[in-house]
Amino acid sequence: MRHLLTLVASALLLAVPVVSAQAAEKALVILVSMDGFRADYLDRGITPNLSRLAAEGARGTVRPSFPSKTFPNHYSLVTGLRPDRHGIVDNTMRDPAIPGVVFKMSDKAAVTDPRWWNDGTPLWVSAERAGLKSATLFWPGSEADIQGVRPSYWRPFDQSLPPEARVDQVLAWLDLPQAERPAFVTLYFDETDTAGHHHGPDSALLNAAVTRTDAAIGRLVAGLAARGLAANLVITADHGMAATSPERAIYLEDIVAPDAGERLGMGAFMTMTPAPGREAEVEKALLKRHKHMTCWARGKFPARLHYGHHRRVPPIFCLAQTGWEITTRDWVAKRPIGGGNHGFDPHAPEMTAVFVAHGPRIRRGVKLRTADNVDVYPLLAHLLGVAPEETDGALSRLQRALDR
Ligand code: AMP
Ligand code: ZN
Ligand code: ZN
Repeated sequence: MRHLLTLVASALLLAVPVVSAQAAEKALVILVSMDGFRADYLDRGITPNLSRLAAEGARGTVRPSFPSKTFPNHYSLVTGLRPDRHGIVDNTMRDPAIPGVVFKMSDKAAVTDPRWWNDGTPLWVSAERAGLKSATLFWPGSEADIQGVRPSYWRPFDQSLPPEARVDQVLAWLDLPQAERPAFVTLYFDETDTAGHHHGPDSALLNAAVTRTDAAIGRLVAGLAARGLAANLVITADHGMAATSPERAIYLEDIVAPDAGERLGMGAFMTMTPAPGREAEVEKALLKRHKHMTCWARGKFPARLHYGHHRRVPPIFCLAQTGWEITTRDWVAKRPIGGGNHGFDPHAPEMTAVFVAHGPRIRRGVKLRTADNVDVYPLLAHLLGVAPEETDGALSRLQRALDR
């Protein structure tokens, strides 16, 4: 009897890894971001791979969160929280609780410091806590041990790593033995954003970048097929791109004295913290009607922007009309306006991002309504089988993408 029990127990033990291996295979979820990939780039007839995935899967569009910049929106995609709640309120910011530091995307000390990121729980943290492995081939936040947890596999951001090498690294992680293979993977491409800034959303060079990114997606799909891996792919972007022009400049020095406060950023928006004693002067100059710019005091943003309460939001925030740039004459002398930019109102059609989902759990041939980018997180958590954290999004808006 005892012998029989041992036999049954070892059979069960043997069976367990097989069952969980199948479950893990089913759960493979790959989140791809193509930075600045505007929704309509998919209609240009230059993306054979993405277009096929869209035709065989679900296609929609995604509205970015405010402000429509890279770091805030990548973090919204993986946390399901608005920037005002996850705390990455801008690419460049200060925090009264971290005095003397300006957070910048290019500052390794800042991007690896979990204090900037801890207000949000990215999906890779939840996956790791649930016993799943995660891998990030670049994603804002992935270089910090957020709430004490890191992805099992990650690499420091390296913009010079070619798209093919990024795909190959992801495939190499998927070649790991079953027990070590990641179930949740992020993959990031930046060429479409860079080309959009330099040459504008309607240029031949932007189209060439779109086609190169599409080819990298094709390489990923072929690599997965060669390995017999059925992945649920969610391919999206952080924001779109609007054409800018030297004719659409707002000169700051015509509005407020440059030394009246600390300005962070310029372009689609700028923020200002008045110098001590100059609050009234700055408020009077900025918080009035402007022809091509709207300024708000912290706490006074329209509700639809879901912004303006986090302690990191500066006292005054000025947003340019879509396609206009806030600048100074000194600055344009060095860097003439042209090409494209983002950071504009998320409700402007030019800011809308692409959304394509494809895989065993995704319905074929579905066209989705525009979702908010915080809605992507509940979909990802559902596909992965991980309990979602509290979110500003809703699964209902992308639910039609699901097969069952
Ligand atoms: P943006 O100014 O909002 O257009 O930001 C786009 C830029 O963000 C890219 O060109 C990259 O240089 C940078 N970037 C994207 N991901 C990361 C990352 N994980 N770490 C550091 N910088 C990044
Ligand atoms: Zn971006
Ligand atoms: Zn950009």
